[in-house]
Amino acid sequence: MRFPTLLKFAATAMLGLSMLAGAAQAEPLAKDLFGAKRLPAVAAPQAFGFYSKGCFAGGMAIARDGPHWQAMRLSRNRRWGHPDLISLLERLSREAAQDGWPGLLVGDISQPRGGPMLTGHASHQLGLDADIWFTPMPARRLTNAERENVSAVSMLKGDSLYVDDRKWTPAHEAVLHRAASYKQVERILVHPGIKKKLCDTVRGDRGWLSKVRPFWGHHYHFHVRIGCPPGSTGCKRQDPTPRSDGCDKSLDWWFTDEPWRPAKGPAKPKARDIMTMAALPDACRAVLAAPSPASEMAVTLGGGGAATQAASQVAAPELPVLGYQEIDPASVLSAMPAGRVPRPSNRPALQ
Ligand SMILES: [Zn+2]
Repeated sequence: MRFPTLLKFAATAMLGLSMLAGAAQAEPLAKDLFGAKRLPAVAAPQAFGFYSKGCFAGGMAIARDGPHWQAMRLSRNRRWGHPDLISLLERLSREAAQDGWPGLLVGDISQPRGGPMLTGHASHQLGLDADIWFTPMPARRLTNAERENVSAVSMLKGDSLYVDDRKWTPAHEAVLHRAASYKQVERILVHPGIKKKLCDTVRGDRGWLSKVRPFWGHHYHFHVRIGCPPGSTGCKRQDPTPRSDGCDKSLDWWFTDEPWRPAKGPAKPKARDIMTMAALPDACRAVLAAPSPASEMAVTLGGGGAATQAASQVAAPELPVLGYQEIDPASVLSAMPAGRVPRPSNRPALQ
């Protein structure tokens, strides 16, 4: 090999290597890809993956205003969910109103196609999780600015672990009871202090308490999670909750120092912040690539409670049902939502 040829060969090889390195660096983050989608994937409704590692197709939005709800933080564009969840929220708002809860302030549900979010939440990726404020809906319509800036009210007494009895009412118990009464609802996450309040005060039927799970945060809002919907064969279901009411040693643990001790060692990056498409089910690539509906209104569950199913009138591509990839339990652990308090390293699995 003559010298110039060798040089050329070396230069080509180096160029190839640097292109490879460039490609590796440019591997986009899943949160950026999903965070950029303004509208859902037009396809049959399906959830793919796990609550903290997945996406969904055929999403629907809950309207900004309904007879018994108002959606908050509109700028986040997280009013999207699997149609089963959206219609369940509409039903909850209506039936809770009959119970005496004036209406739901709806917090984050999911991004239009789910997936990891740019900020907040480890879960909420499948369109099967929704946050509902513990603040009852006011009698008037909030302005957009109020929906951005108004703060929810903590149910706790100061910075203690216990509920403030001046804020907690039988209506708070009733709306949780109503939410837990639906077969589709598998879990409701609340602060341990709220779980304790329920343990101490709920009379009569206590079976529903098994669905109400103590977790960090969740004193400004409760988190409703439905199970994998029928037809979502690529959705990985979470282990069922224990049958008991949970008013036992597992709750006592939350009132020790251990759950609130800062984690030792350097902070690990959140799974949400490093996840690329390779971490998600393959079907999520098809979800990203699927067409959008003609408009947001076409796929919004309206204020009257009737869903506008225009999405189903658009020619929907068949999305492959590829099944979820096995989930590494360690990654699910590190994907748990950050609370407002330091977290221990030996924490329980995703509740
Ligand atoms: Zn939540």
